[in-house]
Amino acid sequence: MNTHRTLFSPRRIGWILVGCVLGFALGGTGSAAQQVTALVGARIWDGTGAEAISNGLMLVRDGRITYVGERGDVPVPSGAAVVNLNGRTIIPGLINTHGHVGSVGGSGRENLIAQLRLYAEYGVTTVNSLGGEGPAAVALRDEQSMTGLDRARVFVAGAVVTGNTVDAALAIVQRNADMDVDWMKLRVDDNLGSSQKMSPQIYSAVIDRSHELGLRLASHMFYLSDAKALLRAGTDFLAHSIRDMDVDQEFLGMLAASGICYTPTMTREISTYVYESRPDFFDDPFFLSHFDQAEQERFQESRQASSARAQPYKEALRVALRNVKAIVDAGLPVVMGTDTGPAGRHQGYFEHMELDLMAEAGLTPEQVLLSATGLAAECLRIDDEIGTLRPNRWADFIVLTENPLDDIRNARSIESVWIAGEALR
Ligand SMILES: [Zn+2]
Repeated sequence: MNTHRTLFSPRRIGWILVGCVLGFALGGTGSAAQQVTALVGARIWDGTGAEAISNGLMLVRDGRITYVGERGDVPVPSGAAVVNLNGRTIIPGLINTHGHVGSVGGSGRENLIAQLRLYAEYGVTTVNSLGGEGPAAVALRDEQSMTGLDRARVFVAGAVVTGNTVDAALAIVQRNADMDVDWMKLRVDDNLGSSQKMSPQIYSAVIDRSHELGLRLASHMFYLSDAKALLRAGTDFLAHSIRDMDVDQEFLGMLAASGICYTPTMTREISTYVYESRPDFFDDPFFLSHFDQAEQERFQESRQASSARAQPYKEALRVALRNVKAIVDAGLPVVMGTDTGPAGRHQGYFEHMELDLMAEAGLTPEQVLLSATGLAAECLRIDDEIGTLRPNRWADFIVLTENPLDDIRNARSIESVWIAGEALR
């Protein structure tokens, strides 16, 4: 509902018109804009759950996919720019349903672009940023229906809704709505008994008002009892794992009836204690391709002491792993989310760690990939635009040298990342 409002808002159509006019002015006849790119010979896994095409052809024009199928079924248009991808695998760009931009380094435009670029370098081509964004993030959200995008797409929730009274909370809801956010976000958590939880009276009022404004609401929660209460109150997304106990049949029934999605964000637990000693990933070339080792080591030393207080999150992770498996086995939608962005939760790299954890929980590589592509797009209601490799969607995809359907760790074998039909440079 709000996604369509967002994608086709007057402001966005304005940007599209500006883009068209500029394209015409700069391109003359527009021949460059009409150029077809033909990606030939790759295995193509389209993110719908269909079996991969072993020797595929994908055609892209003006940033969008126009054809996906077996090579040889249709001719490659004359004049197309042909990219030979024999032996490679193409999957849709990854969608993180719960990340953050601007948590570190400020909410300014340049910082946000750098963070979205970092996500993109790791193949995360869309980030649903659930809280803490300001107008610069909203502006970037409004500037992404175009070709030439060299960063991840972003959707925003604005200020996390807080407050000790209904009125105070609803004032934040209104400010977010006035800023034209995609989501509302609230937290129902006592941080292992160290802080006050938002009351049911307040969160119910916030959820109701969000719905009146045509906006969906994502809930941070920890306890099974709160997840059930939030489902009863009408939450539209469970934005973390249930981590205090195993989910029960009542919860699974409620989640099924709600039709909403659940995101595990298990790397969030890892981040609370992993810096108690030197993490293995500090020596991982995939991590070091974008992060500085010395800087990370200094950060780790500064974090070491605080991780002692985070020991209960080790058990919370074990519970979370069991719950992911139980929810997927019940046929309910689990989507990839990480809560990256705050210090120590590394954008881009932790998304791959999250995929590994989902596999560790017992999901097949295909289930893990679906959670980060087609299913994630459906949950965010952006599946008409991205998430699968089908005609009319933006051509956001990753070219891999190894097949991630064999082993999810092969999602790291990134040869190139494409957004709106162009490879990142
Ligand atoms: Zn978060």
